[in-house]
Amino acid sequence: MAGSRVTFPPMAGSETLEIAIDRAACRGAGECVFRAERTFVLDDEDCAKLISADGDSEEVVLAAARACPNFAIAVSRGGVRLV
Ligand code: SF4
Repeated sequence: MAGSRVTFPPMAGSETLEIAIDRAACRGAGECVFRAERTFVLDDEDCAKLISADGDSEEVVLAAARACPNFAIAVSRGGVRLV
């Protein structure tokens, strides 16, 4: 998946969470920004961009990724895709 990537600090007892945005798939609907405003913003091209490594909880980030209508956000941990 192409796009920007940010790595969250590992949580206790878990491996690092990785988030990637497929800019080609993003349509700027803003659902991710609405749900996790400390993690995602829309850039000048109305495409989602990652802004913080620790702005929102893992639960919030996962919910935001699941809410993307274009399946443009991938979240993985330890090489296992969660969303
Ligand atoms: S919800 Fe999906 S399509 Fe909408 S801005 Fe976020 S990544 Fe892009």
